[in-house]
Amino acid sequence: MAKQMTTNPETFLRRRIADISAYHVEPFTADVILDANESPYPPPPALAGRLRKIMGEAAFNRYPDMNSVALRRAIAQMEGVDEDEILLGNGSDEIISYLMQATLDPGGWILTPSPTFSMYKHTAFCLNVETAEVPLLDDWSLDITRTLDEIKIKKPGVIFLASPNNPTGACVSPATLSAIIQAAPGLVVVDEAYVDFADSSVGPLFRERPNTVIFKTLSKAGFAALRLGYMMADRRLVAGVNKTRLPYNINSLTQALATEVVNSWSELLPLFGDIKKERERLLAALWAIPFMEPYPSQANFILARVKKNAGEVFGSLLKDGVRVRWFKGSARLGNFFRITVGSPAENTALINSLKGMS
Ligand code: PMP
Repeated sequence: MAKQMTTNPETFLRRRIADISAYHVEPFTADVILDANESPYPPPPALAGRLRKIMGEAAFNRYPDMNSVALRRAIAQMEGVDEDEILLGNGSDEIISYLMQATLDPGGWILTPSPTFSMYKHTAFCLNVETAEVPLLDDWSLDITRTLDEIKIKKPGVIFLASPNNPTGACVSPATLSAIIQAAPGLVVVDEAYVDFADSSVGPLFRERPNTVIFKTLSKAGFAALRLGYMMADRRLVAGVNKTRLPYNINSLTQALATEVVNSWSELLPLFGDIKKERERLLAALWAIPFMEPYPSQANFILARVKKNAGEVFGSLLKDGVRVRWFKGSARLGNFFRITVGSPAENTALINSLKGMS
């Protein structure tokens, strides 16, 4: 009999993987879920009916269309770009990974502001790519002087700018973006995951500036369950990044459902409008709570400083059935909540719970 292997298989992990944590979402139960930047709304009834019918027609025994032709065509039409300027991912999370795999060698650098969406740095780390982080200024705007300095020193292959940024809700100004694109030795990603709630979009910027890439996702628009993100870029870059894409990364259900969603986009606009209106009501209501200091936002969430014990406030909210995102343990954001804009009833539940603590 072969000798029993007793080595802990964990020891086979790469050192840097053994040392990090998996992406974690706290499994709190709550009636009012305001911690994940999801839409509070299901699809409008007519669209929901069409989606149910499409689900019933899926060919479960067949592989999906490898190139998601119908879905890319629908997105191209909505965005006013060509199909070969679009690459699809299982969420924009997957696009982050593909873009980095295609463009960065181990030991290379990316640059991000800080704080921002954690997956840029996490994905880079897994690929042995380093991250230069430039702290945002106190009003959450970009520190352009330090950013330009870091660009010169680190020569990042990719610069990631989420606009609106998660978790601050602030957009990158056109002048700042222009200066960064001008100085960048590599690619500049403008991640517009939250653009449906913003006053403006950069549009198909890659047409004038071929070193730029635009990311978008259906996740915040009410379809987080589908896991569909996409990047738009120069077709030569799209073709190159496509070489890293896993076969059939977009499943048949997502392809068929997302095609209908994209073709029905105008039916969703009133919901985005409602969320933006609620965001402003929530902002004013948070301002009226003596221990909350919210920041203006262009996204479907609001970042707010908690001016008393954040852990206690978080615990009291949970007791009232309200879940927000608390950046527990973070050096800069340990006293901050990121609060997703919910339905009017959900936002009122949050405000009433906070009022009960003042
Ligand atoms: N970009 C930003 C800025 C985000 O906040 C998120 C979601 N948290 C993503 C991308 C990822 O979105 P998706 O659900 O499409 O993977």
